[in-house]
Parts: sequence; C-alpha cells; structure tokens
Amino acid sequence: MQPEREEMTPGPRAESPEHVQLSLAAALTLGLKRGRFHRDARLGCLNLLLTYRDGCAGRCTYCGLAGGRGVGEGGRTFIRVGWPTHPLDRVLLRARRAGARLRRVCVSMVTHARAFEDAKVVMGRVRDETGLPVSALIAPTLVRTVWQLRELRESGADCVGVAVDAATEALFARHRGAGVGGPHRWDRYWDVMRKALGVFGSGKVSVHLIVGLGETEREMVETIQRVKDLGAVPHLFAFFPEAGSLLEGRPQPPVDRYRRVQLARHLIAAGGASTGDMTFGEDGRIVDFGVDVAPLLWEGDAFRTSGCPGRDGETSCNRPYGNERPGGTLYNYPFAPEAEDLEAVAQELRGGVCEACRPC
Ligand code: SF4
Repeated sequence: MQPEREEMTPGPRAESPEHVQLSLAAALTLGLKRGRFHRDARLGCLNLLLTYRDGCAGRCTYCGLAGGRGVGEGGRTFIRVGWPTHPLDRVLLRARRAGARLRRVCVSMVTHARAFEDAKVVMGRVRDETGLPVSALIAPTLVRTVWQLRELRESGADCVGVAVDAATEALFARHRGAGVGGPHRWDRYWDVMRKALGVFGSGKVSVHLIVGLGETEREMVETIQRVKDLGAVPHLFAFFPEAGSLLEGRPQPPVDRYRRVQLARHLIAAGGASTGDMTFGEDGRIVDFGVDVAPLLWEGDAFRTSGCPGRDGETSCNRPYGNERPGGTLYNYPFAPEAEDLEAVAQELRGGVCEACRPC
C-alpha cells in the first residue's frame, strides 16, 4: 500500500482531541510513514499520545516533552524517534483498515489542563469506531479521584497504566518532583494506582518502571514486588538519553543489569519467586534469584516486552523502538527471541565476556 504523502502531516499547531501523535511503529503500521520494521517486528498495540502546542507541564529529567516543550517540526518530541502528528479521523480510518493486526489501542495523556477531557473524547472514539480494547496511560497529577477513573472506564478504557518510572521515592523526587520543580508526587502516584485497582480490578492496572535512573537492582526489584503485591502488573523500560532532555548525556543502563531485572520481574510477575527468595550483593546487584533461571533463559519470555494484553490475554503492547533506536541492542524484544538472540542474552548476562575469555 502506498502511504499517504507526508505533506499531509499537520503542522505544530495541531492539537488534541482533533489530532494525536503516534509512535513511529504505529505510523508504520498504519501506512502513515514509510519504512520497515527492524527484523519485521509487528506492532500489536497502537500507541497514541495527546498533543498540545505548549506540551506537558511535567519537568521530568529524562523526557523530551518536559518543561512545556511542545510539538516540534516533524513531530520530533518524545521517545528517541519521531512521533508524527495526524488527525484522529485519519488514524481511526487506518486502524479500521488494519483489522486483526491491531489488538489494542493505548491513549497516553500528558500533564496538561485539557488532557483528562480530551483523553475521554479520544478513547470514546477509538472504542466506538474501531471496536478495539483501549488502555489509558493516565497522568495521576490530573486524574486523582475515583470518579475520574470511573469516567475513563465509561469512556472506553478497560486497562489503566501508571508511569511511576522511578524505583524509589528519592529518585522520583529528583527526576520528576521537587528536584526539578516538577508537579508530580510519589505518594499521589501510588494512591491513584490503588484507586485504579479498585475501579478497574486486579491485573488491569499496569505500572511502568524505568531501569537506569540511578536505582540499584535491589531497589528496582523491591518496587516490582510492591507493584505485584498490590495486584498491579509491572512493565519495564530501559532509560534512553532523549535529545533535549536534562539527561541527554547519560548512558543507557548496562544491558547485563537490565537482563537480571527482567528475569526478576518475570519471576515475580508469574509468582515463580519473590524478593525474599533472592540474594543481593552489597551494591544491590542480584547474585541469586532463589530458583534455577536457566530454563527461563532459554525459553526467552522474560526478555520480551511486557505490556497490556489483547483479548486473547497475550501481550499486545510490544513497543518496537520503545527503548532503543532501530538496529540497536534490544532491551525488550518485541518478538519471540530466536536461538541466537538468547545466546546473546546469555552472554550479556555474563557481562558481555564470553566464557572462554573470562578471567578465572
Ligand atoms: S509527565 Fe510524562 S510527558 Fe510530561 S514531562 Fe514527565 S514523562 Fe514527559
């Protein structure tokens, strides 16, 4: 199918709810952008982002939208690749044409005075015009009450995401709250998460956590356990230095650390082990998972993207390019890793040094 010409992309004055931004993967899937998926990863969930000229009121250190940076020319704003802006009418038309390839739509708010009302409009249209299940990635600084959460459910959402992002209260304050003069508060995020569990139910609330904001492995694993114990589902992201963000010069987390946290998340989420079974070194590093993880290593699910499910219960939100540029190290595999991928993962877990070269 010949994609529509890019001159049809609206300018930076286009705003929600008439317009939304799409992830690059979503734009490729809908034929609104030219290009191919790296290794033919297929997107299962259409990720839409509300968009405003004056951007987001958040000041998060790791985000390209922080400090009111709005949509730049070409939609260059957010997560390591462009998020093009399109009219919602066009997106919904293309989503209907995409048919069974899509299994869910996620509508992400930003911290903007109009975002709650606009999210309801966008979600309602997605539900009514595509029939797809809808997730709401909410902004707890705006969506604080049970009645607001009920309104989101009535507007079409069957799942809610809360992007806590930082693993500890101190890191949250440093990266999102008082440390940067930002509006977000740790306690409010956890309070809204509990309220969302009451409205949407256990297993219907997911929590995003970013590895690489300065936490130890132990701190991250303990937060994953806390999320699980509340009845929510933890999803992992790897920090990426967004151009224009305060942390644009910071490196991504070492991949071996990310792999260990992925294994721990997988075990905890599946009930195969808990934090209490694991052993940590003095620096917080996981030194023993408490169970034999070799079978998990060769099965590979632990290293796949985890996200909201489709109606079949399988992960739909596989977020190609969600943690990296196309062609880079895949922190989260958006497809089932193949044997050579798993061999690479095993080597990464050994610290990138092959057994034969390892100093003994
Ligand atoms: S609230 Fe979300 S969109 Fe806004 S600056 Fe923080 S991370 Fe970015």
